[in-house]
Amino acid sequence: MSVAPAALDKATLGLHPLDQYEPLIGAATADRIFKKADRVRGAHVIHVNSTFYGGGVTEILTPLTLMMNAIGIETGWRQIQGTPAFFNCTKKLHNTLQGEKLEFTEAEKAVYEQVVFENATRLHLAGCDAVVIHDPQPLPLIAHFDDRKMPWLWQCHIDLSTPHPAVWNYLRGFVDQYDAAVFSLPEYAQDLEIVQRFITPAINPFSAKNAELSEREIDDCLSVHRIPTDRPLVTQISRFDRWKDPMGVIEAFRKAREREDCTLVLLGNTASDDPEGDVILETIRNSIDQRVIVLTVDDPLLVNALQRRAAVVLQKSTREGFGLTVTEAMWKGAAVIGGNVGGIRLQIQDGENGFLVDNVDQAADRIVQLLRDPKLRRRIGAQARETVREKFLMSRLLEDWLDLLAGYRRP
Ligand code: UDP
Repeated sequence: MSVAPAALDKATLGLHPLDQYEPLIGAATADRIFKKADRVRGAHVIHVNSTFYGGGVTEILTPLTLMMNAIGIETGWRQIQGTPAFFNCTKKLHNTLQGEKLEFTEAEKAVYEQVVFENATRLHLAGCDAVVIHDPQPLPLIAHFDDRKMPWLWQCHIDLSTPHPAVWNYLRGFVDQYDAAVFSLPEYAQDLEIVQRFITPAINPFSAKNAELSEREIDDCLSVHRIPTDRPLVTQISRFDRWKDPMGVIEAFRKAREREDCTLVLLGNTASDDPEGDVILETIRNSIDQRVIVLTVDDPLLVNALQRRAAVVLQKSTREGFGLTVTEAMWKGAAVIGGNVGGIRLQIQDGENGFLVDNVDQAADRIVQLLRDPKLRRRIGAQARETVREKFLMSRLLEDWLDLLAGYRRP
């Protein structure tokens, strides 16, 4: 049965087969990746996470699952369901894994484990060759599949540099039941009984969020959203989350504006599995003025236009598993100032392809420096784009997954 009108080819439909990457990565690399798929072709892989909407995991799984299917690996994507109480618990797990010192109570463990049990009951995996579970929300699923015939991998996308020990010890009981844990950076390695692998995230350069735009298209998009362009734009595009430090961004912007006039645009969304976004948004809204614009529209084209037009893109996180917003902006040749943490440090070499900052004052100084020096912005931006082309495109992520899955194929 045909599911699409005949006139639409696979690239138009967004399937993004590997050949599309060839002009960016070269024929030899594309060929090598294609050959690696031979070892895994025909396998049936299931990814499980807790949202189809919002946040970096969705951003990765959307192109990854499509590319895997395009290259011949049957790849499915399931979502667990949960109550608001469940997502409050899992957000607490997220926060404590990123270092917050809170107790995860016995009552919270009961809610968490009960909802995951219910999801396990509905998760039928017959015929599956590998299961990839993402982040803490569905982590305990494994406890309900005693008779496992396929490898189970747990991929954690969170900044695990300083997890709260008590919470990590509790979760570790589940993690050690897996065949392997996959983290975004080697520095997130933990004391575990199982194999640990490291796969850094990547972006899809052909998505609406990252594809080329003409100056005219950028102008039109900014005008539709009433973003004034009479002064240089400074922007941060992020989920409304405390670890992204939106209040620190506003403070740095205010200090910078005392020296150079500019407009700040904070564009944000909330993920459907993140209950804290509204509270953070409220705090931001209480402290804005006419030069601080806060937008909550869900529009990948606007993300694209802002990252291309802004004189400075900030990602002033205080914890960051990886930071796809940094990659996206760097791909567009933007001058990015990032918090000196987690995955941002892996992407930005300070002074080469962006700037790293440890506090509000440093961020303010870098904003001013970049606003005053267009040549510096161009040099940094060109280097940034090259970094992403070399290291952070989906073709590389696909290759990492092929390597990992091939290790589990029977000869
Ligand atoms: N994003 C978006 N609209 C927004 C805010 C964020 O589309 O208003 C996207 C952003 O472009 C990126 C993803 O959400 O693709 C966030 O991924 P990241 O790794 O930066 O952070 P996470 O939310 O996973 O912590």
